Amino acid sequence: MFGSVVMGMGTVGAVRIRDILAPLPSSTAEKLSVKGFISRRILEEHQGVKQITFEDALSRDDIKVAFVCSENSAHEENVRMFLEAGKHVCIEYPMAMTHRTAVDLSNLAQEKGVVLHEEHIELLTAEYKQLKKDIAGKKLEEGFLHFTGGPLKPGFGFPSFSGIARLTWLVEMFGELRVTAASMVEDQEKMYTKMTAQLMTKDNKCLTWIEERGPGLPRAKNINFHFDSCTITQLPPAPREPVGLFMQDLVLFSQKLMGQVPRDQLHAERWRVLHCLELADRIQQLSEQSQGLTQDA
Ligand code: NAD
Repeated sequence: MFGSVVMGMGTVGAVRIRDILAPLPSSTAEKLSVKGFISRRILEEHQGVKQITFEDALSRDDIKVAFVCSENSAHEENVRMFLEAGKHVCIEYPMAMTHRTAVDLSNLAQEKGVVLHEEHIELLTAEYKQLKKDIAGKKLEEGFLHFTGGPLKPGFGFPSFSGIARLTWLVEMFGELRVTAASMVEDQEKMYTKMTAQLMTKDNKCLTWIEERGPGLPRAKNINFHFDSCTITQLPPAPREPVGLFMQDLVLFSQKLMGQVPRDQLHAERWRVLHCLELADRIQQLSEQSQGLTQDA
């Protein structure tokens, strides 16, 4: 059994505890147990699980695994401390707020011989799986992905990091990308942000990614993928799957803990995670430069 601790009792932290307490029957997720949770608030108990201190979690031998579900700006420090203590880590995306940090953390996990898994539930949704099937074998000519949603709480970082799920879709569908331009419009008083990134595939096909957030904006993804043979403007309808997204992720993580995930799959995942964070870094740099230019003008 892998004794675990869950850190950060927000929406996802509570889901993690729920899923570890009631794992998918006959799956590797049954190998996890929850020994406690960590929160900055005094909560004492959550779903029958006891609150413990960070120090306790780091030093206890019966805790082998940490789920880091805190806000994005705290990921680096929390993940590093658990890895240094020799614990396996499941980190909710994004792993870190810079590419350099993610590379360091990934190397540290390798040195320590532990699993560092970045959760990406957006790749597990039924509609995404269907979209991936629908585009198989088609040649992209041009693509557009526009995400809208409400404002984020502080601590979730620059939109290319907080929105890494959308970038991960693009990289999973179209492979290695490069950033050709990026800009950001922000109105702090109105809690409004709009980031626009221009990306290019290896075949020099253009992709536009927009992350737009503000009060009242519906949570939605608008797509327009133009292929040699057709254009896709809507996510395909797909029946809801019986196993929840975080549970699917828990099964994948526990398979990694059990050494059941093939090496080439692990390498491909590591490449994808680091490539996305490298792109996110570049988008942030170019956007900040463009904001600087606007302010100077
Ligand atoms: P959240 O805002 O619900 O919680 C984030 C953190 O804030 C937690 O550490 C929580 O303990 C802390 N927190 C919340 N309320 C607090 C309070 N009143 N006082 C002190 N601390 C408080 O965020 P979340 O949706 O659970 O996201 C956590 C992580 O999971 C993020 O890295 C996010 O990117 C990632 N993620 C979230 C989802 C999702 O569907 N929510 C999906 C995939 C990944």
